[in-house]
Amino acid sequence: MTQAHDLAARFGPALDTRPEALAASARDFGHLVRETPLGVLRPESVAGITKLLEFTGPRGIPVSVYGGGHSMYGQGQAGGGVVLDLRPMSRIGDVADGRVTVGAGVSWREVLAATLPHGLTPPVLTDYLGASVGGVLSAGGLGGAAHRHGLVADQVLELEVVTGAGEHRVCSPDRDPALFHAVLAGLGQCAVIVTATLRLVPAPARVRRYCLFSTDLARYLADQRTLAEEPRFGYLEGQARPAEQGGWQYMTEAVAPHTDGLAPDDRALLDGLSHDPATVETTDLSYAEFVHRVDTDEAVLTETGEWLHPHPWLNLLLPHDRAASVVRAVLADPAFQDLRDTGLVLLYPLLSGPLRAPLFRRPTGTVLHLFALLRTTPPDRPGTAEAMVAANHRAYDLARSEGGVAYPVNALAMTAADWREHFGSGWQAFAEAKKRHDPHHILARGHGLRF
Ligand SMILES: Cc1cc2nc3c(=O)[nH]c(=O)nc-3n(C[C@H](O)[C@H](O)[C@H](O)COP(=O)(O)OP(=O)(O)OC[C@H]3O[C@@H](n4cnc5c(N)ncnc54)[C@H](O)[C@@H]3O)c2cc1C
Repeated sequence: MTQAHDLAARFGPALDTRPEALAASARDFGHLVRETPLGVLRPESVAGITKLLEFTGPRGIPVSVYGGGHSMYGQGQAGGGVVLDLRPMSRIGDVADGRVTVGAGVSWREVLAATLPHGLTPPVLTDYLGASVGGVLSAGGLGGAAHRHGLVADQVLELEVVTGAGEHRVCSPDRDPALFHAVLAGLGQCAVIVTATLRLVPAPARVRRYCLFSTDLARYLADQRTLAEEPRFGYLEGQARPAEQGGWQYMTEAVAPHTDGLAPDDRALLDGLSHDPATVETTDLSYAEFVHRVDTDEAVLTETGEWLHPHPWLNLLLPHDRAASVVRAVLADPAFQDLRDTGLVLLYPLLSGPLRAPLFRRPTGTVLHLFALLRTTPPDRPGTAEAMVAANHRAYDLARSEGGVAYPVNALAMTAADWREHFGSGWQAFAEAKKRHDPHHILARGHGLRF
């Protein structure tokens, strides 16, 4: 019997093999890779996940979790295997004692819808709230508050998982910590996350957002370092934007809360920085408006159709001292000139200290910068997306030669050697965790890791 027949015999109609379901599971935000699974399973309980993994493991049938479907390069796909859709288990528990337990298939938008009425929020959020809890925790999760609080994954108090071996386990920093640390930022390699208990903090009612413009990259990066190291802003991001007269300008986006109904002190917050004071943009927003800001972009890009075009995105982490040279070289590269017309370039600082998940790789040094090249390919130009993915590898090689690493949510074909280098001294422990928890190597093959 073939694996398809085996699966059908074991799971019957619970295994969705309708062509439209298979096609949907072979699609992601990147629109670059299409791996069709044999079926999609939507378990209603942990027992359904355990039953699947106990069956697929010994048969070597690949399994991937479909979270929000926002991978760039097939990371959540399971060609010739089973896609696990956890949405039927998307429950959100009570918000109490500064924490909430949520199903891993829940989106961050749904998490906030549950916590904000209590005046609470996760301390760190990604810019976009449509990704799933499981998807972001398996990557790590970066956002404007990461310089202060670390990764989204660093806010997890407890995880309920099913390992690739089919074992149902609960883990935390104190309970089975080795498994806990193999799952967070672990790219789905060791276990399926079933629920996560998240730390919550008081959400400000209102915030003030400052956009600070500068034409000098070195001074911009120095300001960003200052702002990351000082406690002025709870949220700090930034962008490189094409300048009208050619070249690039840089925009720091810094956000401070209104405290006790009082607006922040602009003069104190912006003191000593090198931006052009004549062009500062200041906006007051409710916290909810601020955290949902990318919803508007999504609506506009869905309307224009660009949301559904290929997205050969690349996220790099650069050491502070080498950031300027890498940014300059990549932004001057003709292969990235489309970024002058469309897409987005993020460039913002992180501190290594607060980034705790051991599997999250970062450059050496205390200050680093996320350099994200977020591109969209016109669908009517054959070969363009492939050329952009190839350009991504060249930019990755350049970043590596300067001490950078990938933040692995990319359209980047990483080889076995690239992955070993990526995890560096952590590779051996990661490979041992993989062997222990996913002995048949069936989980999350879409990342292309080879142990
Ligand atoms: C518009 C947009 C904006 C983004 N902004 C940010 C940002 O600001 N910061 C940031 O850090 N990232 C950002 N990302 C990247 C995003 O966080 C990752 O791609 C994330 O992995 C997507 O999760 P998903 O569940 O939506 O995707 P999926 O493609 O469904 O899953 C992604 C990966 O996670 C695994 N996974 C999903 N659920 C589970 C689970 N329950 N257990 C184990 N593994 C699981 C999948 O198998 C797959 O390998 C952005 C992505 C997009 C498209």
